[in-house]
Amino acid sequence: MKSRQASNRASSEEIPAESPPGVRSPVWADVPDHEWNDWRWQLTHRLRSVADLGRVLRLTPEESEGLAATRHLRCDLTPYFASLLDRDNAACPLRRQVVPTSRELEGFDAMMADSLNEDAHSPVPGLVHRYPDRALMLVTTQCASYCRYCTRSRMVGSAAGQFGPKHYEAQLDYIARTPALRDVLISGGDPLMLAQGTLEGILRRLREIPHVEVVRIGTRAPVFLPQRIDESLVAMLARYHPLWMNIHFNHPREITPEVQRACALLANAGIPLGSQTVLLAGVNDCPNIMRNLMRQLVRMRVRPYYLYQCDEVEGAGHFRTPVGKGVEIIEALRGHTSGFAIPTFVVDTPGGGGKIPVQPQYQISQSDRKVVFRNYEGFVTTYTEPPRYVPHDPATCPECRKHRSSRKEGIAALLSGARTTLLPEGYRRTHQRLTNLRLGALHIVPPKKDDSGED
Ligand SMILES: *Cc1c(COP(=O)(O)O)cnc(C)c1O
Repeated sequence: MKSRQASNRASSEEIPAESPPGVRSPVWADVPDHEWNDWRWQLTHRLRSVADLGRVLRLTPEESEGLAATRHLRCDLTPYFASLLDRDNAACPLRRQVVPTSRELEGFDAMMADSLNEDAHSPVPGLVHRYPDRALMLVTTQCASYCRYCTRSRMVGSAAGQFGPKHYEAQLDYIARTPALRDVLISGGDPLMLAQGTLEGILRRLREIPHVEVVRIGTRAPVFLPQRIDESLVAMLARYHPLWMNIHFNHPREITPEVQRACALLANAGIPLGSQTVLLAGVNDCPNIMRNLMRQLVRMRVRPYYLYQCDEVEGAGHFRTPVGKGVEIIEALRGHTSGFAIPTFVVDTPGGGGKIPVQPQYQISQSDRKVVFRNYEGFVTTYTEPPRYVPHDPATCPECRKHRSSRKEGIAALLSGARTTLLPEGYRRTHQRLTNLRLGALHIVPPKKDDSGED
C-alpha cells in the first residue's frame, strides 16, 4: 500500500523531461552529433510515409490508414520530435498530436474548413484583420512538423498555398496604410521556417512603419525543431525589439533539455516569451498535466498566455473536449499556483467571433453595498462597496478628451452611454410590427431611431 502511494505521488508530481539530452531513436544512433544538432539535417530527414514512420514506431492500423490518406494535412516529423514519441503506445500524448489516424477523416456536426472565418476577414491574402488595433500576418504555409488538429489545415502544409514576396508586399502595404494597427502578429504556418533573410526582411519593413509599436511571432519551432533557435537567429530577432514570441506547447514531455536551451537563448535576448496551449482530448485534458506544464513553462521564463478550446475544424473532431473541461482546468490552477502560471482560457468562436474568455464563476451575488465572492477553496467572503464614490470625470481627464471623438463599439459603447441597446439582426422588423399592434398594451417604449443596432 505504502509503495503504491509513493509511486502515485511520483507520477502526479512534476514529470521530469523523460529524455536525457540528445535522446534519439536507435534508428539514428549513427548520425554524427553535428548533423543531428543541425536544423537543416532535421528538416531534410523528416518522416512522412508509412514506411518512414514504421521505422521508429509500431504503427496501429488506424495510424497506417491515416498516413495513407492523402486528402488531409501532410505528416512531416522531425527525427528529433519522432524520438520523443512512445514507440509502442499510440496513446502517447506527443504521438497523438502529430501522427495521423483514420479518425481525422471523420466528420462531426458544426465541422468547418475555416472555423474562425479568417478568409472573410482578410483584406489581402494572408492578412487577417479581425480586431481594431492588431492584425495577423500569415507568411508561410510550412511548419517543421504538423499538428493534427491545426486550425489552418485548409492551407497549411500545401506547397500550392505558399506565401511569397508579392503577398508580403500587399500585406505590408495594407498595414502601412492602416494607422490603427499597432501590433502585428507574424504567423503561418511557422514563420521560423522562412529563410532567415526573408524573415528579417519582413521584420525590417514592419519596423519602418511608424505606427507598428510591437511585433509578435507565433511559432512551434522551439518544440518541433529546437535546433532552429541558434545564436544567429536570436541575434537577428533582437535587432527588432520590441519583439514578443508565443510558443505552442501542449504537454510537459515536450520540454526537453534542447527546448530549455532554445527558450533560454530567446529569453536572454530580451524576447518576452508566452505560450499558447490547445486543450486536446487524450493529450492534456487533465488538471494535473496542465499544472505540471504551466509550472515547467514559467521555469523556462515562458509566461502561459492562452489555453484554447479546440476549434471546430476539419480533422480535429476526436480532439475536442467539452468547454467545461477548460473551466475545470482553470479552477484547478487559480489560487493553487502562481498567478503568472495561469493562462486565459478562450474559445475562438466560429464565424469570426474572435477569442472569448471563459472563467469559473467567482462572484456569487451582489447588492448596492456588498459583493459576495467565493475563492478557490470555497471560502465565501464579501467586498464592501464604497459608500461615496466620486466617479471618474471624462470631461476633465486628458486621456478621455483625446479619445472623445473615437467611436465606441460593442458593450463598451453601452457602458459609456454612447448607446443604450445592441439589437440582433432582424430585431427591428419583428418589433416594429409589435410596436404598431400592441405597444400600448405591453407598455414598451419604442426604441429611439439612433439606439438601433442596425445603423
Ligand atoms: C488571436 C488573434 C489576434 C491576437 O489576439 P490577442 O488577444 O491580442 O492575442 C489577432 N488577430 C487574430 C485574427 C487572432 O486570431
